[in-house]
Amino acid sequence: MEADTWVLPTETFSARILGACVCGAVRWSYDAPFSAMLHCHCSVCRKHHGTLFATFVAGPLSTFHWRAGTEKIGTWQSSARGKRSFCSRCGSKVPSVIHDAQQVFMPAGALEGELGICPQMHLFVGSMAANSRIHDPLPQYQAYPPGWGAQGLDTPVRATRPDVFSGSCACAQMGFELHDRPVRMHHCHCGRCRHARGAAHATNVVYKLDALRYTRGENLLEDFDLPGAEFFGTSFCRHCGAAMPRRSEGRGVVVVPVGALDSDPQIHPLAHQFVASKAPWFEIHDGVPQFPEAAPRPV
Ligand SMILES: [Zn+2]
Ligand SMILES: [Zn+2]
Ligand SMILES: [Zn+2]
Repeated sequence: MEADTWVLPTETFSARILGACVCGAVRWSYDAPFSAMLHCHCSVCRKHHGTLFATFVAGPLSTFHWRAGTEKIGTWQSSARGKRSFCSRCGSKVPSVIHDAQQVFMPAGALEGELGICPQMHLFVGSMAANSRIHDPLPQYQAYPPGWGAQGLDTPVRATRPDVFSGSCACAQMGFELHDRPVRMHHCHCGRCRHARGAAHATNVVYKLDALRYTRGENLLEDFDLPGAEFFGTSFCRHCGAAMPRRSEGRGVVVVPVGALDSDPQIHPLAHQFVASKAPWFEIHDGVPQFPEAAPRPV
């Protein structure tokens, strides 16, 4: 495993907070204090980011500026009122601008700089993945906190056959099955994973390459290879931007973003890896072993 070498592209502007997708095409800046920071466990977030949960910061739109790549931004209408944005080149999650409310929601993992805020709560814990646990003391809400006046929106429970491990993208046009037991599962805190997923960290389940079989929508699969990286790349649904299994022919494995799974993979994470690159606002509270760089591979 190579070192974590992702760096924010050199900029000619200054701002308190800089954000970018992992390929660097879509970039933005922000200056005002954030008004909220939250972890969301809803099934749309889990699928879109490919993670166990997503983390967002929200704040007023006034000091938010797109700096590059707006023509690369893809959007998916996730509900009657909601939309999700992503880089159509690399699949990274990018900010959603809510013009009506003059607010911007940013995927926290894609940000660099001192955020000046820490996560405040867990939303949609009623929709958590079966294999997910919360270990920190933050308040938890089944959906939105009372008083927000927001309606719960959480749909993607997809029918699964008990004898087949399956998964799907957020828009449901892509579906796949895994015809083998998983090899391992780990959390990765490297800068590439954080920027690609827009989350605190990635959580991936690794299978042998030939375990993966698409059942629908494979024509929507978009693959991105990060230039200069030996292994890092992303795969995602072109329509909704959801993280999809990434085939690594060179290593003979397929790396499945845990959020894409509709079945419980029935495996526990072995490691937090690249914790030297961990987001400063995220604290690890579980007892899973931590490694500053790549975790040693089990034989
Ligand atoms: Zn990108
Ligand atoms: Zn959510
Ligand atoms: Zn999709």
